[in-house]
Order: sequence, then C-alpha cells, then structure tokens
Amino acid sequence: MLVTGGAGFLGSHLIDRLIDAGHDVLCVDNLFTGTRDNLAHLHGHPNFEFLRHDVTFPLYVEVDEIYNLACPASPIHYQHDPVQTTKTSVHGAINMLGLAKRLNCKILQASTSEVYGDPSVHPQREDYWGHVNPIGPRSCYDEGKRCAETLFFDYHRQHRLPIKVARIFNTYGPRMHPADGRVVSNFIMQALEGEPITLYGDGSQTRSFCYVDDLIDGFLRLMDSGPEVTGPVNLGNPREFTVRQLAEKIIELTGSRSTIVEAPLPQDDPRQRQPDISLARQVLGWNPTVSLEDGLVTTIAYFAGLASNRPVAVTKRTGSSAATAAI
Ligand code: NAD
Ligand code: UDP
Ligand code: UDP
Repeated sequence: MLVTGGAGFLGSHLIDRLIDAGHDVLCVDNLFTGTRDNLAHLHGHPNFEFLRHDVTFPLYVEVDEIYNLACPASPIHYQHDPVQTTKTSVHGAINMLGLAKRLNCKILQASTSEVYGDPSVHPQREDYWGHVNPIGPRSCYDEGKRCAETLFFDYHRQHRLPIKVARIFNTYGPRMHPADGRVVSNFIMQALEGEPITLYGDGSQTRSFCYVDDLIDGFLRLMDSGPEVTGPVNLGNPREFTVRQLAEKIIELTGSRSTIVEAPLPQDDPRQRQPDISLARQVLGWNPTVSLEDGLVTTIAYFAGLASNRPVAVTKRTGSSAATAAI
C-alpha cells in the first residue's frame, strides 16, 4: 500500500490501521507539515518503509493500492506557499494517477469539504457544485483540490482507472500539528496554557467535527468498496456546532481559566458546514460513532502530553494573515 502524506495527521493513523491489518506500507512524504515523530513507533517495523519525496515529481514504485493524502491541510500551512499547494494537489494528482494507470491499481484521493466553498446549500450533499472564490487566499487549496477531483474523474472515464474520491470534513484527534492554526488544536493549546481562546468573528459560524478513528474507518471501507463506488463521497460527522460552543466545551473539559476573546474573521471563512452522509451510510455502511466530547478528551490528553514534554508554539491569526508566536 502506498500512502502519500503518510507522515501527517491522517496519514499516520491510516498507516497504523494498514499495518495492523498485515499490509506492507510505503509512506511517501516530503515532511512539509508531517513529522517522523508521527511514525517513530514504526521505525524498524518489517512491514513499513519511508521515502522522503515530493509528489510534484514523478514516482516509480510497485504497489497494489494508493492513498493520495499529500497536501498541507490547515489554512496557515497551505497559504504559506500557495503556488506549491496548487502544485501539490494538481501535479501530485497527475503523478499519482499516472502511477496508478501504469500499475492499473485502485487510487483514493483525500479531497475536502472545501470543494463546497462557502456553501449556499446546507447540509452539503455530493451533488452540490459549491460556491468557491477562485482568486482568494483559500483558492490555492480549494481550487487545487477541485482540479484534482477533475483529474481523478477524467482518468476514470478516459483510462478506466478504478478511483475513490473522499470529501473529508473537519477531522481532529491526536497527532494534529499543535501549531497548525486549526480550531481544535488552537483552542486546546490555548486552554492548556491558560491563554485567551481566540474566537474569529463572533463564533457563530459552524463546523462539524469528526474524530480521526471514524474517518480512517471510512477511508478503509471506501477503498474496499466495489468498482461501481467511485465517490465523491462525503466523510465527516454530521453533528454541527458553533465555534463558540467548541470553545466552551474545551474550556469545560480542560478545566481551564482561559477567557474567550474575539478576533477578526479570516477572509472567505465559510459560515457553516455540515456533511450530508446519506451516501456513505448507504454505499459503505459507514457511520461515525465517537462523540465530540469523547474525541476531545483523547485529543486533550495528547496535547497535554506534548506540552509537558517540549516547548510548543501556538498560532495566532489576525484577519487573513497569520503569525506564529512561540510560548
Ligand atoms: P497534514 O498536514 O497533517 O498531512 C499532510 C501531509 O502531506 C504531511 O505529512 C506533509 O508533509 C505531506 N505533504 C505536503 N505536501 C507534500 C508534497 N508535495 N509531497 C509529499 N508530501 C507532502 O494534514 P492532514 O490533516 O493529515 O490531511 C491529509 C489529507 O487530508 C490532505 O490531503 C488534506 O487536504 C485532506 N483533508 C484533511 C482534513 C482534516 O480535517 N484533517 C479535511 C479535509 C481534507
Ligand atoms: N508517472 C509517475 N509514475 C509512473 C507513471 C507515471 O510518476 O509510474 C507520472 C509521470 O510524470 C507522468 C504522469 O505520471 O507524466 C502522468 O502519466 P500518464 O501516463 O497519465 O501521462 P504521460 O504524461 O506519461 O503521457
Ligand atoms: N477559528 C477560530 N479560532 C481559531 C482558529 C479557527 O475561531 O483560533 C475558526 C475559523 O475562523 C473557522 C473555524 O474555526 O471558522 C474552523 O477553522 P479551521 O482553520 O480549523 O478549519 P476550516 O476553516 O478549514 O474549516
């Protein structure tokens, strides 16, 4: 099994599940946002191999299945070098599709709810075409992922390639990068440090948060599904919360003294997001089972362990710009 982006948050959990199932796994990653720490427990494992490689360059290996996850996922990271972000999505998809075509093997794409942009339809079903700004600060990611989906479906139609496209909604859990600026990691780190919790806007925007174990279960079911199931298929937890509710829940679970402060809302920040997962339920028999509270307890324990072992950085964003402050 080839997992691109395997040193990242989702990729490393996927690799654990594949290794547990007895597969040989090749992880390809350029370590832009991923880290060897996420895979340290597999060092020396006979079924595991790591290759430092950038997917925007061709890759000639022999594998049976490909999970294409390589791409920075948090706004602060994908906006750091937006041209490279688009290249990773588009050139990376072409190279991995070319590899899959040569090997005639199944390939799964980690797409995103961002293909729906700031949605005017709620909740989002797979047949909604989206409402995406093509020239804004989020476009390198959103349009890159949309173009990757186009490539996947053209390789499928033109070359009969067996494809699987997953549209992932906000997912959280252990091994998220503590400084990636995403809402769950930011709020937990701030709560643990007793720092103010930075609510962008008034916190009334909504997101639906899926625990990582549920998401990986969805990946595996999608890859194992029959050739008629190409996707795109939404994977996420349909329980929707406001960002303010999330902040209050994290303060409660950490017992933190942190206060909530409002900061400017980033440009093009989607107002609401909730997956319609009827398709995943129907064709994959998949349903997320971990509650937000249970998932947050595990995630908080992970970040508390990190914070006690080494200095961490908390990311603070103002408007559409970003800055990282070491604490
Ligand atoms: P992550 O940043 O932790 O992992 C991405 C990995 O890709 C990192 O290890 C990084 O080093 C690697 N990478 C980046 N550019 C690369 C390149 N050019 N060549 C090789 N490796 C490269 O992010 P994640 O949350 O684990 O996301 C994994 C995938 O899932 C991404 O494609 C992301 O777009 C998608 N996704 C994630 C979420 C989420 O909520 N976590 C939501 C929607 C989509
Ligand atoms: N490719 C790769 N590994 C392979 C086969 C192809 O990385 O095993 C890359 C190569 O860079 C190629 C791209 O995938 O340009 C697309 O391949 P395809 O066969 O679809 O088209 P080509 O560009 O070769 O006409
Ligand atoms: N957010 C926030 N404070 C933070 C980080 C994020 O209020 O410290 C908000 C952000 O504006 C967005 C939501 O939380 O409305 C989710 O942000 P994230 O970057 O995690 O994911 P995405 O916007 O890609 O869904």
